[in-house]
Amino acid sequence: MKKALFVLLCCVVLLSFGACGGSGGNSGQPTIGVAIYKFDDTFMSYTRNAIQTNAQGKAALEVVDSQNAQATQNDQVDSFLTKKLSAIAINPVDRTAAATIIDKAQAKDVPVVFFNREPLPEDMNKWNKVYYVGAKAEQSGSMQGEIAYDYWTAHPEADKNNDGVIQYIMLMGEPGHQDAELRTQYSIQYLIDKGIKVEELQKDTAMWDRPRAVEKMSSFLAAHGDRIEMVFCNNDDMALGVIESLRNAGYFQSGKYLPVLGVDATAPALEALAEGTLLGTVLNDADNQGKATFDVAYALATGADPAGSGWTITDGKYVWVPYQKVTQDNYKDFQK
Ligand code: BGC
Ligand code: CA
Repeated sequence: MKKALFVLLCCVVLLSFGACGGSGGNSGQPTIGVAIYKFDDTFMSYTRNAIQTNAQGKAALEVVDSQNAQATQNDQVDSFLTKKLSAIAINPVDRTAAATIIDKAQAKDVPVVFFNREPLPEDMNKWNKVYYVGAKAEQSGSMQGEIAYDYWTAHPEADKNNDGVIQYIMLMGEPGHQDAELRTQYSIQYLIDKGIKVEELQKDTAMWDRPRAVEKMSSFLAAHGDRIEMVFCNNDDMALGVIESLRNAGYFQSGKYLPVLGVDATAPALEALAEGTLLGTVLNDADNQGKATFDVAYALATGADPAGSGWTITDGKYVWVPYQKVTQDNYKDFQK
């Protein structure tokens, strides 16, 4: 009897701290843990803002910066689970770490929504309370290829050495990231499928990062100079770095031009489109990815079926947000 009373008292105390039911927010709102691979990433800061905006009035969030270290993120996930938050939304540092995160979350029955960095299918299938919100990387690659194709076929002068072949540079994001691998592959594949001949002068990674892209492009210019006819970048930050480097080398003045392509449609990239330095980009829809991440996590946190959240759920666990081509013709539609 005494023991039963003690257990009951404990639970009352725990409940008043919000620990029993996993609802730590104001007035019975659920608390959702959000881990971002690193805050210092332009696209992720847009996604993070969208998650926060959508949570207003509905859920409390605990948002943490994993500082590009999987070990740090694992500790953060452990802490979310110890607090028994109602759901967690994870942007993994290393997407192959998802398996461990899923196992731990399942042990505590805390649903997980991954976003932006897609876990391997075998990991996604480990548990039915695991979801992924993202975009089809192949689509962004093909769209980039399409922008390149339209430009190349409309501008014969782009073939500087008149050999009928595009001599290009490929600047990649982080190796192993689905967006880096597939954008690289599908942009070029689109051109090949259209019968365009291509020659890769050099391919390298700048880890999604603008300052690194400035450096890499300077060395590409030193090695290949005027032989370069096009530069593909897996994201806009790197494209902006390439443009900076080209500008330092005298491009974008007195008729000296080189087509540079990015992905994301960040605000500075749209400005570069407006000034005519960036040829084109592809909208990676952070607003809708952030909204879908929150909506699915919120449904799971409140015991609802994510299928009722307004998003189409594919194969029981994926929300795919479409990409859109952004060029000179329509960039104004994307400026906020
Ligand atoms: C974006 C990049 C970003 C990366 C982070 C990609 O989808 O295009 O800009 O750095 O995600 O994981
Ligand atoms: Ca050529």
